[in-house]
Amino acid sequence: MKTHFIEERETSMACPAVFPELDDPTFRLAVAQFDKAAEAMQMDWKIRERLRVPQRSLIVSIPTRMDDGSVKVFAGYRVQHDLARGPCKGGIRYHFDVNLGTISALAMWMTWKCALTGLPFGGAKGGVRVDPNALSQSELERLTRRYAAEIFPFLGPDKDIPAPDIGTNAQVMAWVMDTYSQQVGFSVPSIVTGKPLSVGGSFGREDATGRGVAMLTLEALRACGINSEGSSVAIQGFGNVGSAVARILDEIGLRVVAISDATGGIYNPKGLPIPDVIRHYHEGEETLRELKVGDWITNDELLTTETTVLVPAALSEQITANNAPSLRCRLVVEGANGPTTQAADDILEERGIMIVPDILANSGGVIVSYFEWVQDIQRFFWNRQDIQERLQSIITEAFQRTWDCAKAKNTTMRMAALMNGIEAVAEAHRARGLYP
Ligand code: NAD
Repeated sequence: MKTHFIEERETSMACPAVFPELDDPTFRLAVAQFDKAAEAMQMDWKIRERLRVPQRSLIVSIPTRMDDGSVKVFAGYRVQHDLARGPCKGGIRYHFDVNLGTISALAMWMTWKCALTGLPFGGAKGGVRVDPNALSQSELERLTRRYAAEIFPFLGPDKDIPAPDIGTNAQVMAWVMDTYSQQVGFSVPSIVTGKPLSVGGSFGREDATGRGVAMLTLEALRACGINSEGSSVAIQGFGNVGSAVARILDEIGLRVVAISDATGGIYNPKGLPIPDVIRHYHEGEETLRELKVGDWITNDELLTTETTVLVPAALSEQITANNAPSLRCRLVVEGANGPTTQAADDILEERGIMIVPDILANSGGVIVSYFEWVQDIQRFFWNRQDIQERLQSIITEAFQRTWDCAKAKNTTMRMAALMNGIEAVAEAHRARGLYP
């Protein structure tokens, strides 16, 4: 029996060779996390093999007319990791590092996230390999519309519903909604979430991910017996997620001592004036360096700042074996997807630094996206208070379930969250059986 098991496992480890296109560090991280959880669960190999790879992947080329009359072709992707529990849900990322492997990893994490929080979705992700900051607004619109038209066969309110991610926003979602609606000949607000309110968006979607991160920061502090009053926070990434976390935790009374973007960060141990920073940075378009409200630091220095809570809210694989021994926080709350490598996970566990894992910590975005989809379908809209109360109820219940599971199984919050999510997906596969 044991030999049989080992043979099966070795076959399985060769699995990425089935899809050499997926050989990418972020995808390897997602699969390694899955393998560890599946092993701890003694999961059936037949389902395990299937869940290690995406169900469907689409690669498209996006010819885009530039403002100078030339045409540039960009690479685009849409990956659906698993459809067993319902239509797929996941963001669209515009970034120069996007590839099929990264997008597949992000789609897999979406599957576990939706299952962990009890949303009736499978996981998906899309992206275009482009630096959106290098495009004019009209180039961005043409690129978005052509990308949406190319992935049109994958999309549908009952098939796959995109949302914003790095480099995309409510305006990009409005163009996706309009392009889809033009193709079918009538308005379909439920085709994307994270849209402007004027075309069927939801109250509270814009800051939902950051709000969820803030809610679980408070939950985790409480669970660890740390007083939130006087606690400090350092946040890597000051986009949609990072700036909302900063604003909400600052409003609650925590001290935000460091923030950063791709260029570097600012640090002030007394606390940064977050409302002023947001006003000048997002509305006044001043750079962080121009603000002169703290010392200029690098992103590496931000991660090792002395603080109660560290919130990575930018890219994946930022906390690694190199910097994990130097982290000086008590708690990591993962706003970003996949910010911590497995080696770093082990080091932080050994050091007693708790991690609230990405699939739980940043699930506020997809939870409120679910609310937006439901509201669009029923054409009946809820107020801001409804949204925030329902978000709080779902996300804190998921936290409590994960916390209890981690205690009961004597494991980390990451393993407990993955095991919960993966088990819900496996259960759906067992119930539906293998077609044909
Ligand atoms: P965004 O594009 O609005 O912001 C990204 C931020 O990261 C920017 O401030 C950018 O300057 C910064 N950044 C980029 N490269 C960096 C680097 N090398 N070092 C430090 N900072 C860097 O994106 P977002 O929507 O805020 O997403 C941030 C993270 O949160 C991503 O991992 C995303 O997948 C995850 N996430 C987002 C949502 C959502 O609803 N937007 C939901 C769940 C998870």
